Amino acid sequence: MKQISLALVLIFLVSCKSEAQKDEKSKEYKVQKSESEWKAELSDEEYRILRKAGTESPYSSPLNDVKEPGVFVCAACGNELYETKHKFDSGTGWPSFDRAIENSLAFSSDRKLGYERSELLCGDCGGHLGHIFDDGPKETTGKRHCINGVALKFKPKEKS
Ligand code: FE
Repeated sequence: MKQISLALVLIFLVSCKSEAQKDEKSKEYKVQKSESEWKAELSDEEYRILRKAGTESPYSSPLNDVKEPGVFVCAACGNELYETKHKFDSGTGWPSFDRAIENSLAFSSDRKLGYERSELLCGDCGGHLGHIFDDGPKETTGKRHCINGVALKFKPKEKS
């Protein structure tokens, strides 16, 4: 009996932990700003996407066409999120990557479309970036980070 209750406690602890990892919406982000500060700093479209979890129209982002080496940073706080070398053409009309720069993201989940999707957030400011799916390139990570171009700014690699 004792063993069973111990097992139950362990299961409970493990499930709490994964729950905490999954939803980092309310975590204390390094970059903290009030809604009015964000509103003043960001364009209307950046605010709608980054702070209100909006979605840009597919094929609207000029970043879809970026192929030169460089880094994609968070449009709100400048956190380095993605590299061109991990970008691929997903055919969806949104900039897509098979992985992010390590430890740059936070994760949450939403059910806006009636099913659970994993939401990707900037790990430094909590800005909404997009979602992650399991239908990315099989030969690499199998993941597809589907990102709103408005949430990113591209910094070309400096030529040496
Ligand atoms: Fe950010």
